[in-house]
Parts: sequence; C-alpha cells; structure tokens
Amino acid sequence: MDSELKPVMEGIFEVGPPPRLCGSLCPECNEKFFPKPPVCPHCLGEVQDINLSTKGKIYTYAALQMGAMYKLPVPCAVGWVDLEDGLRIFSLFDPEKVSELDFGKEVTLQVGAIGVDNNDQSCLRYYFTPENGGDK
Ligand SMILES: [Zn+2]
Repeated sequence: MDSELKPVMEGIFEVGPPPRLCGSLCPECNEKFFPKPPVCPHCLGEVQDINLSTKGKIYTYAALQMGAMYKLPVPCAVGWVDLEDGLRIFSLFDPEKVSELDFGKEVTLQVGAIGVDNNDQSCLRYYFTPENGGDK
C-alpha cells in the first residue's frame, strides 16, 4: 500500500489527497520559493509556509532512456514546470506518460510510489502528469 511508504524527503510535499508542494513566501520581497529555504536568500528574512499551485505548464524536460538513479523507471523524464503561481520548479514527470510530454503542455501534481530513497527503500515522490482533457 502506498500509505505505508514514506516521502523521499520530509518537508518537500504533502502526500494528500490532495497532494501539495510545500513552498514558502518572503513577505518582504514578495517572492516564492520551492523547496523552502531556511531564510529568504535575498533579504535573509523569515519565510512563511505556503501551498503552491498544483497545476502548471512544462517549460522544458528531458527523457532518460537508461541509467536513471534511485531505481526510477526508464524511460523517465525530469524537467522544469512553470506553476500557475509564477514559480518555476524542478520535477519528475509521470513515468507512464513520457511519450505525452511536450513543451507548454498543462500538467497536474501527483504523488506516487516511484523508485527508492537513499536507503534503497521504496518511497513516494511528487511528479507532474499531463492533462488529457478528460479521457481515462
Ligand atoms: Zn526576502
């Protein structure tokens, strides 16, 4: 069961449902961050926890055909997503939908069991999956 698996790293995302990315906001600079830094890298002020948008568009990505770390399935894809709230973040993409990825495509946050953690244990990771306009 997925519920027995732990996130690959604490404090990065909430499993949900619904899954959420744990971001932060510097109220002085009005800038958002992910993952959350200990302090704002610009003004060194305190940052506030915020939930980031769970939807965005693919800025760029690369598919790995072999040699993926952490027992990630191959092919798998990683890249950058422009979230609706303006932040660009690095992410995995849905390993079952690598062929559907495209620049500018709308994607939605998911959390699932993918690969292993630093201790070689199966774990949960966040990833983005393409939106298909309602079909299965
Ligand atoms: Zn700041």
